[in-house]
Amino acid sequence: RIGGQLRQRLERFCERLLEENQRLNLTAIREPAAARVLLVAESLAVLPRIDAREPKRLADLGTGGGIPGLPIAIARPTLRLTLIDATRKKLAAIERICADLEIRNVRTCWGRAERLAREKVWRERFDAVVARAVGKLPQTLAWLSGLLRPAGFGWIFQSLRALDAPQPWLEAAREHRLSLEAAYRYTLPEGHGPRLLLELRKTGPLRRTLPRL
Ligand code: SAH
Repeated sequence: RIGGQLRQRLERFCERLLEENQRLNLTAIREPAAARVLLVAESLAVLPRIDAREPKRLADLGTGGGIPGLPIAIARPTLRLTLIDATRKKLAAIERICADLEIRNVRTCWGRAERLAREKVWRERFDAVVARAVGKLPQTLAWLSGLLRPAGFGWIFQSLRALDAPQPWLEAAREHRLSLEAAYRYTLPEGHGPRLLLELRKTGPLRRTLPRL
């Protein structure tokens, strides 16, 4: 369970995020009680999966206001995180939050994931990639794979509907060399319901022309 000091840091993160959110559109959630569950508790649901795979470098693709990247960074200070987003001002807000909370294991990267994946320094470089609410699932899989090294792990936050048949995204997964390893169901507290975390493993290097621009 979450210890007192960690709980306090997560609470400060929540306050700062909602503060930044008054100036910038970082999240539709504006109530502290809802933010604790839907942003912080949801982000932390991936921790057992991360702990099981022990990545050293992790990317948060389409991090927005730092979800799930910042709660993960606060909870796992030895992990090195790169928070990626196409919108620069969101990253500026994240940097202010990191400075205030003295979060030292985070750096930000501005760009579209599919473009970054064309650059040698970013292509297939991360041990693990997380993504929440970035776009349609087939696209998210393609972008995630562009950043993920072979044998690395990806985790995508989804609603339970992702497992309904048919699952056209499985084709995109195969093409981008991702195999579905597991689908973890978890329940958010306070009646916010069941959610799904997809775990994907990169089976080999991507074709040169992928991900598509
Ligand atoms: N993960 C956050 C933000 C979701 S909003 C959360 O769960 O609250 C989606 C974010 O993804 C936006 O900030 C948008 O700028 C970013 N995004 C969308 N497509 C992207 C791409 N191709 N590369 C990088 N970031 C992208």
